[in-house]
Amino acid sequence: MGMSLRKRLILSAFSLSFLLSVLTILVFSFIALREFRSEVERAYQNIIRSFTYSQRLLGEGVQEVRFTLEDCGVRERKGYTVLTEDGLFVGRVDNCVFYGSHLRKAIEFTAEVNGLSWMVVYDRDVVQRIAEGKGDFMDRFVRDKVLEKEYIVEGFYDPAIVKEIKDLAGYKLISGYRTLVVEYPVLVEGSVPVGRVVFVKDFSAKLKEIFITPAFLITYSVAVVVLLSTVLLLIFNRIVGDILMLRDMTMKFKDLDFSEADRLASVLRKTKSRDELYYLKRAVLTMAQELETFINRLQDEKNRFEELAYKDPLTDLDNRRSFTEKAKAMAEYAKRYGEPLSVLMIDIDNFKKVNDTYGHDVGDRLLKALADVIRRSIRSSDTAARFGGEEFVVLLPRTDEEGARLVADRIRKGFKEVRVDADGERIGSTVSIGVATMRGEDGVEEVIKRADEALYEAKRSGKDRVVVFRGTGEDQGKG
Ligand code: GH3
Ligand code: MG
Ligand code: MG
Repeated sequence: MGMSLRKRLILSAFSLSFLLSVLTILVFSFIALREFRSEVERAYQNIIRSFTYSQRLLGEGVQEVRFTLEDCGVRERKGYTVLTEDGLFVGRVDNCVFYGSHLRKAIEFTAEVNGLSWMVVYDRDVVQRIAEGKGDFMDRFVRDKVLEKEYIVEGFYDPAIVKEIKDLAGYKLISGYRTLVVEYPVLVEGSVPVGRVVFVKDFSAKLKEIFITPAFLITYSVAVVVLLSTVLLLIFNRIVGDILMLRDMTMKFKDLDFSEADRLASVLRKTKSRDELYYLKRAVLTMAQELETFINRLQDEKNRFEELAYKDPLTDLDNRRSFTEKAKAMAEYAKRYGEPLSVLMIDIDNFKKVNDTYGHDVGDRLLKALADVIRRSIRSSDTAARFGGEEFVVLLPRTDEEGARLVADRIRKGFKEVRVDADGERIGSTVSIGVATMRGEDGVEEVIKRADEALYEAKRSGKDRVVVFRGTGEDQGKG
């Protein structure tokens, strides 16, 4: 036997809910990750845009400093960045004169607008090279800054972030996605890479917003799935229970045990929802009830047929009842087609004496012998019956008086030869036969009556003979 339906349903419900949960988690993680990435990208673009924009404004606005460039390489340029012992300046060059403002203003503006911390990380070697031969340039430059082995850091100082920026280009998420670091390279006097501006954004709020919410949703949806599958399971379980009940009941019905039908009927009476199972149950109940009625009727019929048993058990000829039914049908047929129909009434002569002398058993043997003789003497279309006691009747369709007389005589002679065993003796007997033929509108009962009258005449006139009924005057034939 395979897995039961119940087990299969439970298994499929649970595997389905498990699958759905995994799928939900995957889909939500995918969506959250994508949203987080685009949020990071957007933040980066905003920072760069506002920093570039504020640098341009500075370059075009009021100039705080003005000095002549030594070894002037460019005569005219906008957005020119210069490093002095006071820091970075951005501005324009006009005829080797630099007009500019503190880059720090652009940095602070960008930081304020975007909610950032910032630092400028100078490459220590480059600064030292620039400071060479310029007196106390270096001392003034590092005044309010942090000195590291490779870097000089200005502004918000976080050694962890400084460590991260070594190979940084563009932006990067560090310390478990909680911090966004954006770098902006700084070139001074057109081409010298002196360091970079670093913006630091705290991303932990965004992280929460994008990951915690989906996590909640995932938990929620998993809970919904589990709940749903539990409910489904309960429903399935009920359905399976119903099916099993129906199966048990039909098994009983199959064994003709209808005791469960009442229970099913009461279940149906209490059922409110009319689903397919309800109709199935009703169909099973109806079937059981009809089967029960049918079986009862069959039993009745069987009893009736047993009562009507159409054979005489001793001689195996038809009994009187079945003979009467057949005779009626045959008479109808004969009348309709204008065919003759004859009846023989046969009675054993002095049968009482045989019984009295040799006993009932010997009498019975004689009765059987006569039945055999009759059977042998008639056609298969004829009907012979034991009419009662030791009287026999034969119905001969399509046979007229003459033909009937011949059959009767054949029986009479045949029986006369018969001997049966009686206490070692071999004994026999004779029969008298009355013959009558149907004429006109007679019923079969009249013909039988006339044959009986002819039989009486045969007895009266000496037995062991055939008498044909002929209206009032009877003709008798012997031998
Ligand atoms: P008759 O020549 O005038 O016919 O005289 P009978 O002695 O044959 O008289 P009747 O036909 O009236 O006798 C019927 C007897 O048949 C009565 C009964 O003892 C006997 N008999 C009836 N049915 C059976 C049976 O089934 N078995 C046996 N052995 N005898 C039966
Ligand atoms: Mg008799
Ligand atoms: Mg008799």
